[in-house]
Order: sequence, then structure tokens, then C-alpha cells
Amino acid sequence: MEDCIFCKIINGDIPSAKIYEDDKVYAFLDLGQVTKGHTLVIPKKHARNMLDLDEETASELYKRVPKIANAVKEAYAADGINILNNNEEIASQTVFHCHVHLIPRYSKNDDFGFKWKDNSNTYSQEEFLKRAAKISALIPS
Ligand code: 5GP
Ligand code: ZN
Repeated sequence: MEDCIFCKIINGDIPSAKIYEDDKVYAFLDLGQVTKGHTLVIPKKHARNMLDLDEETASELYKRVPKIANAVKEAYAADGINILNNNEEIASQTVFHCHVHLIPRYSKNDDFGFKWKDNSNTYSQEEFLKRAAKISALIPS
């Protein structure tokens, strides 16, 4: 897609530190290097984000994630790795070509800084089940 920096990276129009490529996906180091080895895995077929992926592209993308993530984790002997994906601006997406972040973790005090709150004491069991039913009804078969 024109004007997409990640499409330009796939096409070689913008340089990147490539770590893996095949006919379906491309993986390269994220310039931000939140932690050492921080990598992005992207589908070659342009899509705005995960919400826009067709099932086949999603499957081709995620099929490759374990082997690439294991290499990223092993390279600098990380103790773990966060695998995540941001969708839309409110969820911290800044580049609108679908990508999966692989962020190796070396210590609890590294620069990833990912925290979320446990709200399990803020809703009733009835509300909890209502939420499940509401979401479930929206999933196409
Ligand atoms: P997002 O915030 O959309 O989930 O992540 C986009 C990521 O792309 C950021 O972590 C940012 O550092 C990275 N990024 C943005 N532009 C470039 C670029 O031109 N080359 C590389 N390698 N990474 C980029
Ligand atoms: Zn693109």
C-alpha cells in the first residue's frame, strides 16, 4: 500500500534490520528497541491492524510467531517474552500496518513497563456472565 512505511520496508524501499522473511511474513528489529532484540512480525499483505485480517492471513502470521519469538528470546538469553499487538490509536497503535511485537524480558525493571489492574472485585457474577454472553453473540460462526 502506498504511504505505508511497513509496506515500504517489505519492498526494500526503506532499510530495515531483517531477521526473517518468507512468502507470507517479514520480521525485523523495531527501531525503538524497548528491550534488546525487540522485533516486529508483519504480514506481507497489507492490513490496517489485527481487526482487519482475514483468517488465512492471521493464521499465516501467527503460525510463524513461535519460532521467531523463540529465536528472539534465545539470542540474549531473555527469561521471558511479551507477544502483543496494538489496535487503533487508543490502544497505542502508531503504524497502521498490522504488526506483532516480540519484546524479550530480562528483568521486572526493564523499559517495557506494562501494568494492568485487577478489577475482579468490581462486578457481580451476573454482570460477568452478561459480558460473556454479549461478546459471544457478536462472534460470527
Ligand atoms: P505500534 O505503536 O503501532 O504498536 O508500534 C509501531 C512500532 O514501529 C514502534 O514500536 C516503532 O518503534 C516502530 N517503528 C516505527 N517506524 C519504524 C521504522 O521505520 N523502522 C522500524 N524498524 N521500526 C519502526
Ligand atoms: Zn502496509
